[in-house]
Amino acid sequence: MIKPIIAANWKMNKTVGESVDFSQRLAKECEGLEEREVIIAPPATALYTVSLALKGSTVHLSAQNMHWEEKGAFTGEISAPMLADMGCEYILIGHSERRSLFGETNEWVNKKLQAALNFGLKPIVCVGETLKERESEATFDVIKKQVKEGLNNISTGDIGCVSIAYEPVWAIGTGKTATPELAEEVHRFIRETLSSCFGESVGAETAIIYGGSVTPKNIGELMDKPNINGALVGGASLDFESFTGIIRY
Ligand code: PEP
Repeated sequence: MIKPIIAANWKMNKTVGESVDFSQRLAKECEGLEEREVIIAPPATALYTVSLALKGSTVHLSAQNMHWEEKGAFTGEISAPMLADMGCEYILIGHSERRSLFGETNEWVNKKLQAALNFGLKPIVCVGETLKERESEATFDVIKKQVKEGLNNISTGDIGCVSIAYEPVWAIGTGKTATPELAEEVHRFIRETLSSCFGESVGAETAIIYGGSVTPKNIGELMDKPNINGALVGGASLDFESFTGIIRY
């Protein structure tokens, strides 16, 4: 049984004060909540203070991005050991905004994944097709390539720390959620791809979460699907009531 993951991606939103205030309220709200893996990914500026605010709580901390090098002349970048040092446990890799706005390729995703695993971070690798790719019936080819190239050369043992987020690009921040049936079809395909690359048990045990305009209203029907193991939530995670509504689906 895969523990459901509910992860908040705040993107470039919230000051340090707002992040800490939200985190403290969330930590209280999630006291004793063992049946969900609740994760928040604040902006990098708030990671350290949020990690202090979450100490001893059931809420886990994620960063939104990292560089694959450990240190050096990479102005503006943050490395995996720096994130681990700040108390981060998870890391989002290959979010579609990183891919489309900042040129992140599957090769970069793979380098980041290897670095994250080397420094003990748990990666959530994001994959998803654009509207153009879906309309040209390339969805499964695109997803297979993102999974295979992104996870290339990762050992079966390490895959146990990796989760996949399926986020159709056309559903992110648009209010257009994939229907539960459509999402389930792609999640099943990702599971089959993992099984064929890494073996049946990896396929069966990897958490595959859905992202794309998830709200308290649609989370229930998405989570009813057998291959949907949680949600990565953008817009609806910025509001406390809305995010806690999703956690308590
Ligand atoms: C996201 O950014 O990962 C996301 C799913 O955003 P939204 O929930 O706003 O569609």
